[in-house]
Amino acid sequence: MSVSVVETNEPRETEALGAELAAGLRDGDVVLVQGELGSGKTTFVRGAARALGVTDPITSPTFSIGHRYKATNTTVSHLDLYRLPGGLEQEDPALLDDYLGPGRIAFVEWPARDHVELSHARLRVTLAHRGADRRRIEVVQG
Ligand code: ADP
Ligand code: MG
Repeated sequence: MSVSVVETNEPRETEALGAELAAGLRDGDVVLVQGELGSGKTTFVRGAARALGVTDPITSPTFSIGHRYKATNTTVSHLDLYRLPGGLEQEDPALLDDYLGPGRIAFVEWPARDHVELSHARLRVTLAHRGADRRRIEVVQG
C-alpha cells in the first residue's frame, strides 16, 4: 500500500492528477473518489476519463447513479453514490453490475469511508477543501 498527498491550486491541476493516475489503471479497476461536495471529485474523474480517451462531456450523474462513456480501449463508468439515502446496503445488490467489472474502469464518487462491495478498489482518492481554489488530495494505492 502506498499513500501520497498533493495539493492543487486550480481545477486543471486536479484534472492533471486524474490523468496521471489513469495511466496506471487496468481493465476492471475501481477508483473510489471521496470528499465533501465541491471538493473536486467530478473534476478529478473528468481528467482521468479524458486521459483514458473519453471525448464526451463528463457531467455529474443526476437522474441515474452513473454514466458510461466509450473510451479508447475500455468503457469508463462514472458513478455518484453521494445521494443514495441509505447507502448501498439499502439498494438492490445488482445496482452496480452494469458499471463494474471486465471491460470497464469505474470511478465511484462515494462519501463513506468503506463498503465491502467497493473494498477491492485499486485507488482511493480523498479530496478536501483548503480554502479558495486549493485542494488537498490523498491517494492510497494497493
Ligand atoms: P464534487 O464532485 O466533489 O462535488 P466538482 O468537481 O463537481 O466537486 O466541483 C469542484 C468545484 O470546485 C468546481 O467548480 C471546480 O471548478 C472548483 N475548483 C476550484 N479549485 C479546484 C481545485 N484545485 N481542484 C478541483 N476543483 C476545483
Ligand atoms: Mg461530483
